[in-house]
Amino acid sequence: MTIISTHFKQKNALRGFKSALWGILLCSLLFSQAMAATYKVNTKEAYEKARSKVVAGDTIVLKNGVWRDFEILFEGQGTVDKPITLTAETKGKVIISGLSNLRLSGEHLIVSGLVFKHGHTPTSAVISYQKDKHNLANNSRVTDTVIDNFSNPERYEVDYWVAIYGKNNRFDHNHLEGKSNKGVTLAVRLNTPQSQQNNHRIDHNYFGPRSVLGSNGGETLRVGTSHYSLTNSFTVVENNYFDRCDGELEIISNKAGNNVIRGNVFYQSRGTLTLRHGNDTLVENNVFFGNGADHTGGIRVINKRQTIKNNYLEGLAGYRFGGALVIMNGVPNSKINRYHQVEDSVVENNTLVNSDHIQLAAGSDFERSAVPIRTHFKRNLIQATNNNDPFTIYDDISGITFDDNVINNHSELQIKTGFTQQAFELTRADNGLLYPNNNPQNLESVGVSRSIKPIKKTDVGVSWYPKPNEFITFDHGKRITVKPGLDTIHQALEQAKDGDVLILNAGEYAMSRILVLNKAVTLAAKVAGEAKITFQRTALFEIHEGGNLKLDGVVISGAESPDSSGNSVIRTQRKSMLSNYQLIVKNSRIVDLDINHSFNFLSVFKGTFADRIEILDSHFKDVTGAILSLSQENDDYGIYNAEYVVIKNSSFSHVGGDLVDYYRGGTDESTFGPHFNMSGSTLINVGLGKRNKSKSAITLHGVQVTTIENNKITNSLPLRVFHTVGEPVTKIQSNIFTNTPVIEVQELYSDQENTANLADNLYQSKK
Ligand code: CA
Repeated sequence: MTIISTHFKQKNALRGFKSALWGILLCSLLFSQAMAATYKVNTKEAYEKARSKVVAGDTIVLKNGVWRDFEILFEGQGTVDKPITLTAETKGKVIISGLSNLRLSGEHLIVSGLVFKHGHTPTSAVISYQKDKHNLANNSRVTDTVIDNFSNPERYEVDYWVAIYGKNNRFDHNHLEGKSNKGVTLAVRLNTPQSQQNNHRIDHNYFGPRSVLGSNGGETLRVGTSHYSLTNSFTVVENNYFDRCDGELEIISNKAGNNVIRGNVFYQSRGTLTLRHGNDTLVENNVFFGNGADHTGGIRVINKRQTIKNNYLEGLAGYRFGGALVIMNGVPNSKINRYHQVEDSVVENNTLVNSDHIQLAAGSDFERSAVPIRTHFKRNLIQATNNNDPFTIYDDISGITFDDNVINNHSELQIKTGFTQQAFELTRADNGLLYPNNNPQNLESVGVSRSIKPIKKTDVGVSWYPKPNEFITFDHGKRITVKPGLDTIHQALEQAKDGDVLILNAGEYAMSRILVLNKAVTLAAKVAGEAKITFQRTALFEIHEGGNLKLDGVVISGAESPDSSGNSVIRTQRKSMLSNYQLIVKNSRIVDLDINHSFNFLSVFKGTFADRIEILDSHFKDVTGAILSLSQENDDYGIYNAEYVVIKNSSFSHVGGDLVDYYRGGTDESTFGPHFNMSGSTLINVGLGKRNKSKSAITLHGVQVTTIENNKITNSLPLRVFHTVGEPVTKIQSNIFTNTPVIEVQELYSDQENTANLADNLYQSKK
């Protein structure tokens, strides 16, 4: 009793001069914890003071509010029974912003309730389980914490959001969303013996959307690195939810031994769970829902004694290294960072539904010639679409034994033993997964177990912070009518909100200033072809962070633009941009981009990235530069400027530069893009400008997926395609070339014949 009354007296006394005080408020809570102190702090100085005093059992509470530029070092020696806690006054109401981070160092530390947003870390991690190389955290936990868009503004500057060092640490029930600069979202580091055989547990986290990075370094979770990959990690990654984690080829990159990856859900995420290095890892009870989205993949197997069991994979559209199930070839006597042979591994009791790319001995080439050995593929249930054989076999698979698998009917299955081909129907069970109807007896022991319970999105992360739903970019806002005249679009744009549509009445619109886009906006002519926009600056639109543009039915003329070289209708901001943008041009006419030389329709800068550029039913005439100049990432790091470029039913005449100059240099294999698709379009006199250095009408360098079909190309320079790495898929067919040289396809790094599919192209000459 004495203790409590003392405490109340203290508290009242403190209240009197609270403003002067911001020191420390000490309060003992319970008799049983009479010695445990709670320090409630609201300045960085008060935090430092409290931190220097904490002992086992103590708690530091950060007062609600925004803490700017707060580099938190949380250091102390707790015990199992008396951990030291750092928490928020109210969970979710303590915002850590600006240049901030958190380092843990010591024993039995618990952090909870913080939100990192509106800023980025000045160091190499937002949350690090070490103070420095010699002072690690062990037996410690970060829980109930949010990191939301806390990305370095330089897109290709590398950092981690979470770096786990030490031993026996836990990272659970956290919400990580929107990492858009380079670097793994969460990495388990094994770089010193103090961080190996670590027994960490990473569970019940919400890994929210991570957009396409357009480079290597977009992994969501990585355990280890190739250097320490023959060391055991004993890390358990379980019951996490990966929601649209699209960064790159690897969602999870496992690079150490003896890990368990269990019970996670991968929702519409591009890439695969990759057992990249290290042996003896168990991958079980995971669920993959691809929803048919591009490049959604499953599990990629490399190395020794890996077990892949009881996983469910549905609607995965990925192929090659990004397939539903990929068993790789290795390199004989592989260096630590190349590909070790698959040996003594097991793939059993998995269910694959509409996931039609099972790749065996994948990656087989001159270097990767060590085929899988002593490996079993058994009791898997496969329902493929269109009765196609889902297996692609790249090399000798006699080292894989197939037993008791069941697959729906196929006229021709390449693998002759170990499969029963039988018709079966599937029904969705209460757990959300598909199982054979009527449970035919011979299917009971095949495929994924009925007892599996995929974790729900609502059961991971934190309850007090919203999880993002589907993204809709354009046309979800208001419709705003704009009258013709000087700068009327500029005024309307100032008022517009994200997703609004500006309806342009018939007439002329003159822009005396650049239209800066930092939101998604549509400019639509009330009557297509009746609203004409001219501009007096070197660009009409400039896309900034958050900007997206859709043009529908407008006419844009460059005739009023300055008489200087290098104008653009649209350009990105000059500095690096984190958010990927979209540009859609439909039913529009773009003319008179010829007041001076090198006038582009779209110019981009380094460090910017378009998710999607579409030109549909539009017409371009008299352009001295390029239509789409996407070649600024010229360092050959495997970086590029746009993921998808689609051109349909459009015409381009008298274009001095390339219609598309699309460049991804280097030999890195970590990205799915770039993609290029052009169909039903007409090119007349394209590429012949004397300043066009590429000497082509279209340049595609390192594009991974290309389709060019049913186009008419007349009096133009040739199309040039340069294949780099990654077995690019190039299809150029049914085009008519008139007075235009033959397509050129070159393999830059392969001694093999090029893989482009060029069929039914007609070349003719006409006067
Ligand atoms: Ca990677």
